Amino acid sequence: MNTPDVIVIGGGTGGYSTALRAAALGLDVVLAERDKVGGTCLHRGCIPSKAMLHAAELVDGIAEARERWGVKATLDSVDWTALVATRDDIVGRNHKGVEAHLRHAGVRVVRGSARLTGPRSVRVEGGDGGDFTARRGIVLATGSRPRTLPGLTPDGRHVVTSDDALFAPGLPASVLVLGGGAIGVEYASFHRSMGAEVTLVEAADRIVPLEDADVSRHLTRGLKKRGVDVQAGARLLDAEVLGGGVRARVRTARGETRALEAERLLVAVGRAPVTDGLDLAAAGLATDERGFVVPADWDRLETAVPGIHVVGDLLPPPSLGLAHASFAEGLLVAETLAGVASAPVDYAAVPRVTYSSPQTASVGLSEAEARARGHEVDVNTMPLTAVAKGMVHGQGGMVKVVAEAGGGRVLGVHLVGPHVSEMIAESQLVVGWDAEPADVARHVHAHPTLSEAVGEVFLTLAGRGLHQQ
Ligand SMILES: Cc1cc2nc3c(=O)[nH]c(=O)nc-3n(C[C@H](O)[C@H](O)[C@H](O)COP(=O)(O)OP(=O)(O)OC[C@H]3O[C@@H](n4cnc5c(N)ncnc54)[C@H](O)[C@@H]3O)c2cc1C
Repeated sequence: MNTPDVIVIGGGTGGYSTALRAAALGLDVVLAERDKVGGTCLHRGCIPSKAMLHAAELVDGIAEARERWGVKATLDSVDWTALVATRDDIVGRNHKGVEAHLRHAGVRVVRGSARLTGPRSVRVEGGDGGDFTARRGIVLATGSRPRTLPGLTPDGRHVVTSDDALFAPGLPASVLVLGGGAIGVEYASFHRSMGAEVTLVEAADRIVPLEDADVSRHLTRGLKKRGVDVQAGARLLDAEVLGGGVRARVRTARGETRALEAERLLVAVGRAPVTDGLDLAAAGLATDERGFVVPADWDRLETAVPGIHVVGDLLPPPSLGLAHASFAEGLLVAETLAGVASAPVDYAAVPRVTYSSPQTASVGLSEAEARARGHEVDVNTMPLTAVAKGMVHGQGGMVKVVAEAGGGRVLGVHLVGPHVSEMIAESQLVVGWDAEPADVARHVHAHPTLSEAVGEVFLTLAGRGLHQQ
């Protein structure tokens, strides 16, 4: 009973996907989880935040209906309690779904906090408890938690993380968001839709700094148009909680010191890997200086200790800190442990999305990255409003494609605008399959759609542009 083939520690997207695939391949799997299966993504990340952003879109739609389309609609108010109830119902049903999948697959979920006791052994304490020895391997999938800055201690009320923001008693009238990565931008966008005064402070010289510079530019423009005060190249000097809010000082990109007051300060400065209590040393492992568990073999995501693998947010870059990257990692590790051939994760072909308004979605290399890697490139960019459906939406946005010069491989696709989170699926195949613009240009896009703009950019790069030369 206590000698399964595989022990997975952590039941988030990385851990449960490993467990499901390993069980499907006939392995006996124990999955140790100290909280709820589904992990960050399901309970505090992707799903609740996207549910809230859907509600935000509906709110924005009321304003658009009134202002652009003559629909005599007004917004009364947003009932936060009702919004939270719908959000939590979606999370709850998904949670039940994951539990059922694991049960049906025959994965033994062991409740409790797990720690390594050797290179093949694990002790689970609290909950169900027990000592286990893995016949084939152990998978570390303990994920991450919100990071903060020195001197900035979240109190869950006025200084909050993305975790706390979900469980706040109500919607704030003003928010200072610290961090212009995907999580910070999404929360800035959500609160703005809900009527809050929002300031977004990012230390790098542009928000979503890992994306193509044109993505940052269009996203900044879109957020500013919606009234978000975007401060890139700015640093938080200090912040103190005062009565009903936070008073902060920010050094702006121009070198001025600005005093800001907000009901809430949302700290979204990144996430830190979770390894406390795991006792990596007992198996002869250690983290790197940033706290990540670094694989010795990236093709198998295997650590320096044979048989111990790692997936999800515990991995450093080029892994991406994204749920869908962790699904791919889980599949790879499970198949490796089952002795089934499995291709390494192609991180360059994993899409990256920010679900704000406007949205951003991209895959592959930015123009600057492509040039820095020595590629000679052809680049074509087109505003979404150049196609009829983009005009209907009236939210701006763009399509940018970076390809090897002279009709070579497509290296990167970068989208900003409405629904681009759904539109990127086509481009991930283009990049993942090393396709050339002419390969895509052979295929017709439906008219009128937003993805027509993607098709048009590929047509142009293939020398067959219809609406742009
Ligand atoms: C606000 C927010 C929004 C996000 N939105 C998106 C998005 O839209 N799309 C996307 O792809 N990604 C998104 N992410 C990122 C995504 O949530 C993570 O990449 C993903 O959850 C990582 O999965 P994981 O399995 O590595 O870790 P986690 O999901 O963190 O799971 C780790 C699990 O391990 C358990 N655990 C830890 N230590 C132990 C132990 N010693 N013993 C037993 N159990 C243990 C924890 O309880 C937890 O359940 C978002 C994250 C946040 C915070």
